[in-house]
Amino acid sequence: MNGKFFSKKEASISVFDRGFLFSDSVYEVTAVIGGSLVDWQEHFARLIRSLDHLDLVNNFQEEDFYQIQKKLIKENELKEGLCYVQVTRGVAERDFNFAKSSSLPTVVIFTQEKLILSNPACKVGIKIITVPDNRWRRRDIKTTQLLAQSLAKTHAVKKGVDDSLLVQDGFINEGSSSNAFIIKDECIVTPCLSNDILGGITRSAVIKFCKKNNLEIKEQKINVNDLINAQEVFLTSATGFVLPVIEVDGRRVGNGLIGDRVREIQKIYLEQIKLKLS
Ligand code: PMP
Repeated sequence: MNGKFFSKKEASISVFDRGFLFSDSVYEVTAVIGGSLVDWQEHFARLIRSLDHLDLVNNFQEEDFYQIQKKLIKENELKEGLCYVQVTRGVAERDFNFAKSSSLPTVVIFTQEKLILSNPACKVGIKIITVPDNRWRRRDIKTTQLLAQSLAKTHAVKKGVDDSLLVQDGFINEGSSSNAFIIKDECIVTPCLSNDILGGITRSAVIKFCKKNNLEIKEQKINVNDLINAQEVFLTSATGFVLPVIEVDGRRVGNGLIGDRVREIQKIYLEQIKLKLS
């Protein structure tokens, strides 16, 4: 925290931190595989973009954050899981107008263990439901305003499925914490980048790897009908990688089993990640 290392018990922030009071903060989650960070440079670039968009002071160096994360991974003996980075606007008298405050940002970084390569959901697929997208309109900025996503995820689990897909005006945006892809007429399709969705690092890696492997891929709007009738559906995220969806709103996707195309994309993604980390 702020350049110092603390145990989980000792680490604490002020109740006047704007991250706590206003969700005035941004974050990144980077997967850790075999003790190495996956696509850290891309995550750092997105962190800087998020900070810039919120006019949050930052003079952070990629290498500094990298070294802190490496040390945390080592100290916590983390082999597989994630590194979480959060930057808030810092501590100030509670005031909607932050222009007056000259506080230093609060930086918190921690690790978490998580099964990624052997995540059972990658092998059996997940079930999802569609729900209205109730978030603010700048979802391209990775802020910690995650209440709508958290409610959507909890609602899904209460309904006996795994996750929610956020829908706006009849078109799908993304998962509660993932980007969405469908396979329609043999072509891979994902919603185009806009303020409506987060530009996922895994999303862009998957697009790049698909193109490299001559798999046809399009970025365009997807309506709910296309989703329901898709041959295959999958979600991507830093810690979920490529997650097959086998049921949407109680209906089977395809024959209800993981499709060949998703399997192929999972394989390509894993191969490329392993290559990058080697
Ligand atoms: N969309 C949302 C809303 C998310 O929370 C996430 C995960 N942070 C993603 C997409 C996937 O992004 P990434 O691949 O960078 O994890």
